[in-house]
Amino acid sequence: MTLLADQATSHVEEAPQPKPSMAGLGREGLRAALSEAGVPEKQLRMRVGQLWSWLYARGVTSFDDMTDVSKELRSALAARFSLGRPEIVTEQVSVDGTRKWLLRLAPQGSEVKAPEIETVYIPEPGRGTLCISSQVGCTLNCTFCHTGTQRLVRNLTAQEIVGQILLARDRIGDWPGAAAPEDGRLLPDAERKITNIVLMGMGEPLYNFDNVKEAVATAADGEGLSVSKRRITLSTSGVVPEIGRWGAETGTMLAISLHATNDALRDEIVPINRKWPIAELLEACRNYPGLSNAKRITFEYVMLKGVNDSLAEARALVRLLAGIPAKINLIPFNPWPGAPYECSDWDQIERFAEVVNKAGYASPVRTPRGRDIYAACGQLRSASVKLKASERGKAAAVAPAVTSGG
Ligand code: SAH
Ligand code: SF4
Repeated sequence: MTLLADQATSHVEEAPQPKPSMAGLGREGLRAALSEAGVPEKQLRMRVGQLWSWLYARGVTSFDDMTDVSKELRSALAARFSLGRPEIVTEQVSVDGTRKWLLRLAPQGSEVKAPEIETVYIPEPGRGTLCISSQVGCTLNCTFCHTGTQRLVRNLTAQEIVGQILLARDRIGDWPGAAAPEDGRLLPDAERKITNIVLMGMGEPLYNFDNVKEAVATAADGEGLSVSKRRITLSTSGVVPEIGRWGAETGTMLAISLHATNDALRDEIVPINRKWPIAELLEACRNYPGLSNAKRITFEYVMLKGVNDSLAEARALVRLLAGIPAKINLIPFNPWPGAPYECSDWDQIERFAEVVNKAGYASPVRTPRGRDIYAACGQLRSASVKLKASERGKAAAVAPAVTSGG
């Protein structure tokens, strides 16, 4: 029987496996891949350096373009690997120029379905911010956040995190040569389209610490992607024990999703608060390495009508942050289908902002971007997992009148 079964399966033709990509790997990963392709130990360092520059300073998508690498090695690499990026499922461009990509990742291990994530590019005068995801979905469930309703969750690999940056640079023409095809020179910072990176897409980055850290190292590497750590911001809902370590080990900027000024409310809307309440969170912030007036923590505060938007709360916010080098970002709530909240009225946001302004914080309201394509904060949720009809009903019952926000 066993023999027959074996014989039967041996005739089944297997679909060719896609080659693993080298794009997005860190130096260690590149080293292992080169070694697998037969590069002798003593050449590895030099070859890693060559590939690093082609992949991350030049953005090449074909081994053939690596002109200082021998033909033999190029074909040995091409036989085993690709330089593929995450696959684009959809690309949407907002009326305000914001772009959102729904990306399909290669399935990992026993994954049957390819998971999907979202990445957003937000152009502004003089700068461009790429908002990247760190997890598929999120294990936390802040009540105002669309990502939190997604069940399918896994950590992204460092390669998948870096892959989002490469893909975005490809699509918006942000590599040398795209701007100046005739000389192929490196783009000076001033000509870069992606000047800033924020870890504010799907997921809680501090729950994927090691991979996010490796990805940030690749993004910040001065011989490659060269995005300064001062222009990389990690946003956390408040994984208190990891905040100090993150600062010490990476030196990026930090943003905190605060959203409430008392524990009773924060317990409800940012449930991680039940584990690490506001006082502990702010203590970790006070101790964030390198904090100064030039390197402030951004406190994010989503404006939820009738929930956290009173002027008493604005004053409480200012009191709470006294003594911490801080910026305050008021985020008009971005609605999503079935969300149990409304955005605060614009007048109320302005009054709230005035209290914050008077306390010395400059222009704290973040203009919502890309709302028409659901690319704004908290609207990200890959379409791969849909809300069950019963869940939609529940959400609608809580908030029958969801407006289109401020
Ligand atoms: N998980 C991390 C990073 C991703 S969320 C964190 O929570 O910090 C990026 C920011 O968008 C967070 O401040 C989050 O609280 C906020 N946000 C989530 N849903 C939102 C919504 N519907 N409208 C406005 N902001 C939202
Ligand atoms: Fe997760 Fe952040 Fe959304 Fe909360 S706000 S559910 S931590 S992605």
